[in-house]
Amino acid sequence: MTVKVRFAPSPTGRLHVGNVRTALVNWLFARKHGGVFVLRIDDTDLERSTIENEEAIETDLTWLGLPWGERYNQSKRFDSYERAAATLKAAGRLYPCYETQEELDRRRKVQLSRGQPPIYDRAALDLTDEDKAKLEAEGRKPHWRFKLEGKRVVWEDLVRGHCEVDTASLSDPVLIREDGLFLYTLPSVVDDIEMAITHVVRGEDHVTNSGAQIEIFEALGATPPTFAHMSLLIGADGQALSKRLGSLSVGQMRDEGYEPIAITSHLGRIGTSDPVELVGSLDELAGGFAFEKLGRAPARYDTADLDRLNAQAVHALDYAAAQPRLATLGADLGEAFWLAVRENLNRFDDARGWAETLTGTVEGPRLDEAFKAAAIVAFEEVVPAGSEPDTQSWSAFTNAVKEATGAKGGALFKPLRQALTGRDAGPDMAALLPLIGRDRILERLRGG
Ligand code: GLU
Repeated sequence: MTVKVRFAPSPTGRLHVGNVRTALVNWLFARKHGGVFVLRIDDTDLERSTIENEEAIETDLTWLGLPWGERYNQSKRFDSYERAAATLKAAGRLYPCYETQEELDRRRKVQLSRGQPPIYDRAALDLTDEDKAKLEAEGRKPHWRFKLEGKRVVWEDLVRGHCEVDTASLSDPVLIREDGLFLYTLPSVVDDIEMAITHVVRGEDHVTNSGAQIEIFEALGATPPTFAHMSLLIGADGQALSKRLGSLSVGQMRDEGYEPIAITSHLGRIGTSDPVELVGSLDELAGGFAFEKLGRAPARYDTADLDRLNAQAVHALDYAAAQPRLATLGADLGEAFWLAVRENLNRFDDARGWAETLTGTVEGPRLDEAFKAAAIVAFEEVVPAGSEPDTQSWSAFTNAVKEATGAKGGALFKPLRQALTGRDAGPDMAALLPLIGRDRILERLRGG
């Protein structure tokens, strides 16, 4: 059996870390088993879906390194859904209902006040053809509900183990709205059947759905795929992330300079029994992927952890990889620059600040006059006019200042670093001096 999975985002918003984790786990599983990863745009809701969101989903997946093998739009597959709906209608499993939302709300309140579960009472099943004709003559349009069998639906979930959903405790789900719109439930099953999806991997918020959908698979004469319901994300504070997910969009993280491999390393490892650490590649992540490693407890999305992995990923970038991005930032000062500063970066874009520090004007604190004079003399001795500092110059320079002033340790190095870079900490000064250059160094010493 060839593994075939799908990621089915609704283009009603941007991808956030929650749905990226779903995409990633699907992708890793397909990759591990030489299977197919399908991108299925869940755009049956034509009003809320936008092309911009759809394009952003593709851009984000591509940027993350998660290419898809097949791609579909549900909005182009209505014929299939109509056919499936006709099959279900003919089998008496899809029935028209005419209640308004207010009527349903009223009934629900009555049920609750009587201590009954607020599930749909199936009153519409008792309507005669004349009743329906009368309602339609009044201008009412039907919505269509799937008649659940009301049984224990069971499956062996790859993450949650043995699962049971008692469909007698659920309302018959509405599959088609009165305006004819197919809600996600039926198209998803029809597509999973027609695209021969072998594994449905999604968040645990879909567990109840799966109970109803398994009945729909069966009603359409298909064997349900294998299910894997992943635990949801919580923040470092232990609170559910669902409300905050909107602000954790992939596009925004890209704009903030995050490395895709840091995001995928983090999202691929949280909630698993493997350590949350930076991996070298998505293939490495895929190689170690197994559903048995995913726990049922919520996965902890911790920005501090992500930032740690991100910094490691930046530190590991070689100049060839960094160069085009440095050029885009207007901060490509050459390989020596990159090698000198990379370990001081948390985000790639921080390189711009260092390029400005080396080539722009800096505001260091004023140096003590005697110290300043000694530093200028020492520097001109170590790097005579007409020459430029090299990586040995810093130690020769600081030794000479030490001899002349008696300053040592922090009292020697700190004011010099501050005068030359305007900062208290940063890359090795021995590497920075050649990058700042003689003229600027003297200018900064004099101005300091
Ligand atoms: N569009 C649905 C969602 O994002 C798809 C769920 C599924 O994977 O079946 O929740």
